[in-house]
Amino acid sequence: MTSLLLKNARIVDGTADRPNDPVDIAIEDGRFVEVGTDIKFDAQETLDLKGQIVMPGLIDCHVHVIATTANLGLNAELPNSWVALKSAELMKAMLMRGFTTVRDLGGADQGLQKAQTDSLMDAPRLVICGKALSQTGGHTDYRGPHHSRDVSYYAEKLGALGRVCDGVDAVRAAAREELKGGAQFIKVMADGGVSSPSDPVGYLVFSVDELKAIVEIAKGFGTYVSGHLYDDTAIVRALDCGIECIEHGNLIGDDTIKRVAREGQCVVPTNITYDRLAKTGADYGLPEESVAKIADVREAGLERLVKMHEAGVTVGYGSDLLGGMQPHQSGEFPLRGRYIPADAVIRSATVDAARVLRMEGELGVIAPGAHADLIVVDGNPLEDLNLLTEQGAHMPLILQGGVAKKKAAGL
Ligand code: ZN
Ligand code: ZN
Repeated sequence: MTSLLLKNARIVDGTADRPNDPVDIAIEDGRFVEVGTDIKFDAQETLDLKGQIVMPGLIDCHVHVIATTANLGLNAELPNSWVALKSAELMKAMLMRGFTTVRDLGGADQGLQKAQTDSLMDAPRLVICGKALSQTGGHTDYRGPHHSRDVSYYAEKLGALGRVCDGVDAVRAAAREELKGGAQFIKVMADGGVSSPSDPVGYLVFSVDELKAIVEIAKGFGTYVSGHLYDDTAIVRALDCGIECIEHGNLIGDDTIKRVAREGQCVVPTNITYDRLAKTGADYGLPEESVAKIADVREAGLERLVKMHEAGVTVGYGSDLLGGMQPHQSGEFPLRGRYIPADAVIRSATVDAARVLRMEGELGVIAPGAHADLIVVDGNPLEDLNLLTEQGAHMPLILQGGVAKKKAAGL
């Protein structure tokens, strides 16, 4: 049994536009047990934070921990052992940025998840979907135009972010296999991609019957389907098929925003990825036309973010960065902060993120019963979201399950 008492902590969780008055936070066996003033709690260790800001551990709702390079075709060819070790390094860096939980949108498997829970590595808690589903020629078909091998080759490759399945029977089997393998939700590529050569944005890539079949299987397992989506027509179709979480959503229409606000689906924008690709995509080998296309999607995404905020849509924090761009993971905070209020930005990585993950009350809050994941921040992020950037430089303490994963000297 381990116990810790934090005294004089001012909580910022995005539900208010200023920090709380100082409180004490009692932690026992990995969970918060009491939060209040003058707590009587006999702890093994007591830390007086002297009014410093404390936030729930941050949650990134859209990452790819196995994306060691932005070239996903190459990534899918790499040896599993190398990918696993490199992923561990990428995940450690996420944790050191204050992300104590991440939702992986394609690639992470039960082995990586178990390695985290068994403490084989320091990494965020992982919420996984196994491999993302796409169709032949789709967003996760890495074979190029030549079809030189069977798609089953990728089934055992940890570096393959997704898998290919065509037809109602095959998509059902694929969804069932992922759920059997520990997927906590199902990810489908329900639209084309910005840089995919054979399925550009706006392509209705899976049939309605295929999408409905995937949703039926996921719901039968008590979970939901999340869709990679940009274009409004594709989003409307996906919602009609029962998809409950929209990834990216850059081109979502006004009426669809109203519908999502009314019906309660979630949206996870990933603006930082387009920001990085628009600025440095050429360095990563993206052709000029793609860079221009990405700039358009980037502008639309930020403008849509404002509309979704105004309509009261549940918006999760997402980064979606691949390979060498991953160190910009926290850049989504100040980027969003230029368009919507800081408390809303923070909420997207705390309470609203927990809603996206369907783990409300378990994560994203500093309240009795929740996992004791928190960060201490030097300064008030409601006034300066940049405090959450720079690889955790302004976070002297990072706790995950009540265990200090980072503790600066002198704290
Ligand atoms: Zn996507
Ligand atoms: Zn993604």
